[in-house]
Amino acid sequence: MSDFLLSLFWFLLFFGSAVYLAYNRVNLLTSTVSMGAILLAYLFYGDWHPLWLLVLIVAYAALVVPNLLEFRRERITRPALEAYRKMLPSMSDTEREALEAGNVWWDGELFSGMPDWDRLMSFPAPELSEEEQAFIDGPCEELCSMLDDWEVCDQRGDMPPEAWAFIKKHRFFAMIIPKQYGGLEFSAYANAMVIAKLASRSSVASSTVGVPNSLGPAELLMHYGTDEQKQRWLPGLASGDEIPCFALTSPQAGSDAAALIDNGVVCKGTFNGKQTIGIRLNWEKRYITLAPVATVLGLAFKLYDPDHLIGDKDEYGITSALIPVDLPGVEIGRRHNPLTIPFQNGPTSGKDVFVPLDYIIGGPENAGKGWKMLVELLSVGRAITLPSTAAGGGQAAAYASGAYTQLRRQFGLPVARFDGVGEALARIAGHAYIMNAAVSVTAGAIDQGEKPAVPSAILKYHCTELGRKVANDTMDVHGGKAIMMGPRNYAGRPYMATPIAITVEGANILTRSLIIFGQGAMRCHPFVLRELQAAQDKDTERGLVEFDDALFSHLGYAISNAARAFFLALTHAKFSRVPLNTPTRRYYQNVNRYSAAFALTTDFAMLTLGGKLKIKELLSARLGDVLSCMYLASTVLKHFENQGRRATDIPLVEWSVRTLMYHAQEQLHSFLRNFPNRPIAFLLRCIVFPRGRTYSSPSDELGRKLVTLITETGEARERLSEQAFKANEPGSPLGLLQEALELSERHLPMEKKLKQAQREGLIVSEYLGHQIDEAERAEVISKAEAAELRDYHEKVQFLMSVDDFAPDEFGRRAGGEEAAAATAAGEQKPPARKAKKKTSRKKVSKKKSKAKAGN
Ligand SMILES: Cc1cc2nc3c(=O)[nH]c(=O)nc-3n(C[C@H](O)[C@H](O)[C@H](O)COP(=O)(O)OP(=O)(O)OC[C@H]3O[C@@H](n4cnc5c(N)ncnc54)[C@H](O)[C@@H]3O)c2cc1C
Repeated sequence: MSDFLLSLFWFLLFFGSAVYLAYNRVNLLTSTVSMGAILLAYLFYGDWHPLWLLVLIVAYAALVVPNLLEFRRERITRPALEAYRKMLPSMSDTEREALEAGNVWWDGELFSGMPDWDRLMSFPAPELSEEEQAFIDGPCEELCSMLDDWEVCDQRGDMPPEAWAFIKKHRFFAMIIPKQYGGLEFSAYANAMVIAKLASRSSVASSTVGVPNSLGPAELLMHYGTDEQKQRWLPGLASGDEIPCFALTSPQAGSDAAALIDNGVVCKGTFNGKQTIGIRLNWEKRYITLAPVATVLGLAFKLYDPDHLIGDKDEYGITSALIPVDLPGVEIGRRHNPLTIPFQNGPTSGKDVFVPLDYIIGGPENAGKGWKMLVELLSVGRAITLPSTAAGGGQAAAYASGAYTQLRRQFGLPVARFDGVGEALARIAGHAYIMNAAVSVTAGAIDQGEKPAVPSAILKYHCTELGRKVANDTMDVHGGKAIMMGPRNYAGRPYMATPIAITVEGANILTRSLIIFGQGAMRCHPFVLRELQAAQDKDTERGLVEFDDALFSHLGYAISNAARAFFLALTHAKFSRVPLNTPTRRYYQNVNRYSAAFALTTDFAMLTLGGKLKIKELLSARLGDVLSCMYLASTVLKHFENQGRRATDIPLVEWSVRTLMYHAQEQLHSFLRNFPNRPIAFLLRCIVFPRGRTYSSPSDELGRKLVTLITETGEARERLSEQAFKANEPGSPLGLLQEALELSERHLPMEKKLKQAQREGLIVSEYLGHQIDEAERAEVISKAEAAELRDYHEKVQFLMSVDDFAPDEFGRRAGGEEAAAATAAGEQKPPARKAKKKTSRKKVSKKKSKAKAGN
């Protein structure tokens, strides 16, 4: 063997073995022994140069030292810990409470750089119980059928009283309330599916039903309420006799909700004729969903105890209490107009409202624990209501757009056949699939007891953003049909509603910039939180031992991720482990690759920027995007398995994962381009992208497969829009579009006959309506066929048509005026409201008459 080949052999042996050991995370002792054996062999058999040998010995010493526990603790860890303590990022109580909320699930695996897919795959596919399925097929379909979105939004400004009564009767507000209190006690998955169906029909209905089943009094009571409070409130909330809302946001405190100035002061007062220690409350809240019709407010305020009536503290912090709206001093009843989507939403204020201490949720011992309660519940709630609303909207949009673009013809062809339209259709289908996957897999995990705080934030942000993209594309592919508002426009109102979901429960810019990665980095990283807690341990020696272990595990993990990121990038992850040998196996490998790259980059970002990373929002948001893309791609792969690995869905899976992982690549690349420490950025680029950015977005051909999938009738189209309301009845656009689409497919042979007759000169008209007459006369088609075609043609004409209004109808919708007057008079309020609410209504009317007098 030549000298060169011999040197190459030894180099490859050293380098390859090091990469192999690191890639597989072989433990420190075994790695040290293995590398020692190779070094020994080199000493005996190698033709070594002294300089090269010196390098190897120094490198090997670096591997040996961490094995000397006492030495490394004293000489390395102790000074490192002191330095670390000095640069510890400051953390507010609210940040700490947010960090402690929920638990770490699949997000933790993605952060590890070596996800254990078996953990995800072992979760059972979520299923509806018979009762839940019956509810969706029964009351839920019926409610959708009762709702005419145009009437609700444009004419009435509210759902009709029968719909309110139906919602209460069938306990739509009680999906999360246990049966013992009269609730439905549905799974998170069923809750999500109900909301998705309602959202496919009416944003007003989905918002109205979503709120009581999300963060609000019922949820707070179930988790933190005393038995007495549960008995007092839950049966009424389940039956709909009590309508809840949750009032956190105030004019001064929106995104920074913890900065609220609404306050409660502990004092002595009289309640129900008795002297008692209680709280005197003053608040001003806005944007509160259901407030105008609520009978009970879940109120967040800061609690003060200047006279130390309940303890030693002056100030307790954010506290949550249940406030019946009929108490003196409570103002409620006026409405906001959220982008013309008239679900009940409005301000509320309170002046010197006195309540006993046991109105605090969970009783006086929960004073000051309000923020913790909220973030804990948000860690689950954020994954359900808004994401499933977006998913339901996406399902409806995919179903409608597929059919409409197939039925609508321009230049002699269905517009779906034009690639430009097809591109938007593919996005609609793919994005709908991603949302479905994210919602169902995450809800399934919640039903298995997970409280995935970071995935919840990912779903909140990404599903609502994907929902917005779908709504935009849906507008585009419908052209003017989606612009002209009226009963026949099913796309305009959902499009207008999208910013609402974007804004509520943590506005999206903030969620992306501060929460997903900001929380994720601390929460999900296998060692960072441990290091932080060890550094803060008051027992400094115990802290040193714990910090030492976390630090050296962290180092090993970082080295392993560097090896993995590099090797996986070089080989396009072709040899990485996958849980299943299916046509989707490459996509698991893509996630494996980016998981290692992300973990490595995150470590360097935290190491070099420390606490500053939190305020470098553009950087942390991009890392959050990479994590989110991996999470969503994993749910897509799992959803495909959960749905029985249907071959017809493979294009959807491929398009979705490709789109997501391409975005992950681009975001990681832009992160490195903007990373302030240029040498580190260069090093990371060499490790993470040694072959450049090689991952490509979905091909045009793949996009066309998705177009076929949603523009042709079939099981894949139905599955994609499984929960959408598709009844074939007047006023149900999806049902009517589907009927017309089926007819168009059935009539293809007849259309072919017409085309042939045209070519032969038997038909001269360009207009289908006349062509049918001509074809019938020329006996190209039979009388029965002509009748069928006419019927089909009429249906399509109707679906393509838009509404128009008399000039004097603008600005004075007769029904609208009546409804507005009725609402002001309280007639539109849900019938079951209690008589004792009169006090507050009087106040509203007084306020209104004052305003009128002022005008
Ligand atoms: C229709 C509707 C229903 C609602 N229902 C309820 C309800 O039932 N109960 C309730 O309590 N509240 C409710 N809200 C309030 C909602 O939660 C707030 O609107 C939301 O938290 C944002 O607050 P803001 O509107 O004041 O926006 P602002 O806080 O003024 O934010 C403006 C913009 O700045 C961004 N931003 C702020 N800080 C940062 C930061 N540090 N980094 C990056 N970006 C940042 C935000 O993302 C946003 O884009 C509702 C709101 C709406 C619109």
